[in-house]
Amino acid sequence: ALAQLFEAQKLDTIGQLTGGVAHDFNNLLMAVLGSLELLEKRLPADDARGHRLLDNAVQGAQRGAALTQRLLAFARRQELRPETVAVAALVEGMEGLLERALGPSVRIETALPADLPPIQIDPNQFELALLNLAVNARDAMPVGGTLTLRGRAEPAGPDGKPGAHVRIGVADTGIGMDAATLAKATEPFFTTKGPGKGTGLGLSMVQGLVAQSGGALRVASTPGQGTSVDLWLPAARPAPAPAPVPVPPPAPLAA
Ligand code: ADP
Repeated sequence: ALAQLFEAQKLDTIGQLTGGVAHDFNNLLMAVLGSLELLEKRLPADDARGHRLLDNAVQGAQRGAALTQRLLAFARRQELRPETVAVAALVEGMEGLLERALGPSVRIETALPADLPPIQIDPNQFELALLNLAVNARDAMPVGGTLTLRGRAEPAGPDGKPGAHVRIGVADTGIGMDAATLAKATEPFFTTKGPGKGTGLGLSMVQGLVAQSGGALRVASTPGQGTSVDLWLPAARPAPAPAPVPVPPPAPLAA
């Protein structure tokens, strides 16, 4: 538990640092973009090479600004808005999105029982988390495969934390991870995808959301066989029972 506390604090510190740096960086980029705009006006219209160079600089700065937006989202400057969410219905609503993200060579299988208890989570962030996991799965299955989305009610959390949980598994039949990659997979900024392809923020974002929703995340992987990411989320408390409808007293028996 102490190790977990340190881990949580480390993530929190990284998040704050990231948020602060991203914010300052964004301001700098806005100043750069402003100057480039002024420069463009002073550049002779017939200086084609000059305009091309300027365009490159503007595009680079804009890409940087887009990245800082993602970093700010990661540092979670925005508040979570948890709601009672029925997982099967939410996934059903994402079907088109998932199909497009995974491409035609990946088969999607879902096993989400209709009687799965609802969970308490921010539905938009949860969708983003599932999409992140699906994109990771696609990247791990360059020649195709199967993505399986499973849901199951569990009486406790993965570490024995008591209370009803819903376990949501996202499994792929991809390349898997070796032990060293698996150990670092959820660390912010850890990526094996190379510059411009991965940010290393996907799994840490998912883990952050799950932790803030009172749950836990486990990753299991076998090289050459595939990866399974399991989210354990506390089941939402059932809505309070409706107040009993008063029963009118029986009419007095006629004498
Ligand atoms: P990114 O996808 O940007 O690299 P993530 O935090 O989502 O960032 O993932 C970190 C790393 O974990 C990936 O670069 C990859 O090495 C590994 N990884 C994550 N998901 C999977 C998966 N489903 N199969 C194999 N490796 C994975």
